[in-house]
Amino acid sequence: MTTERRIALVTGASRGIGQAISRELGRQGRIVIGTATSEKGAQAISADLEAHGIEGAGMLLNVTDQASVDAVVKEIGERFGAPTILVNNAGITRDNLLLRLKEEDWDAVLDTNLKSVFRVSKTCLRGMTKARFGRIVNISSVVATMGNLGQANYAAAKAGMEGFGRSLAREVASRNITVNSVAPGFIATDMTEALPEAQHTALLGNIPLARLGQPEEIAAAVGFLTSDAAGYITGETLQVNGGMNM
Ligand code: NAD
Repeated sequence: MTTERRIALVTGASRGIGQAISRELGRQGRIVIGTATSEKGAQAISADLEAHGIEGAGMLLNVTDQASVDAVVKEIGERFGAPTILVNNAGITRDNLLLRLKEEDWDAVLDTNLKSVFRVSKTCLRGMTKARFGRIVNISSVVATMGNLGQANYAAAKAGMEGFGRSLAREVASRNITVNSVAPGFIATDMTEALPEAQHTALLGNIPLARLGQPEEIAAAVGFLTSDAAGYITGETLQVNGGMNM
């Protein structure tokens, strides 16, 4: 056990699951850096952290741009110290049946959801290696294992993220760095708000717990996997889906 304040970087923390994760890690005493894609969003994150009594900051980050990733990790290092907890949460959907799926929508989803994990993890790894401690948690999806109509791009990205995590877990285990995924089912956020009513109702019929999950329920899983209590868990995917995939 260490009493040292750990620094956590949460990508895509302006709302939804990322915001809940930031608050949970803050509640656990972490210094939290949450990122947004606009200056206004970054300021809102800073205000939210402050309102919850959490030390940290909101910062501007585009996970599809390596220069932006470098700049954020550098700024965190200068202001707080190197992040040793990383939650790769930023993600997008561009749904369409494969026959109608445009190459640009394939590329955008793979870049934002998967290549981003390569970029940000690699950039943070140096500090974790130096600290001989690290916790990386990738926010995947139940869709990675189940597949979903209209989400070939998203499912490919999320399945890729889990495979990436297992490989990296093997590479960095000797440095006391763990890499895990949390795979949410359908969670009540802006992302699922966009679902048509009929799809929403059909969805509930496939969830044994018969409700959408709450962002806080994903945050609790991330809080556990980044804690000292989870130090012997690596290369794992924790399913948090109300039983829809068991
Ligand atoms: P959301 O759309 O509310 O939030 C996504 C976040 O990612 C936002 O903060 C957004 O600004 C950020 N983001 C998007 N593009 C970015 C970029 N290029 N650079 C940096 N940040 C970027 O979605 P959410 O529901 O909170 O989803 C969070 C994560 O959970 C995503 O990875 C999503 O795939 C995953 N997930 C969500 C659900 C769900 O039901 N909501 C289910 C399974 C997995």
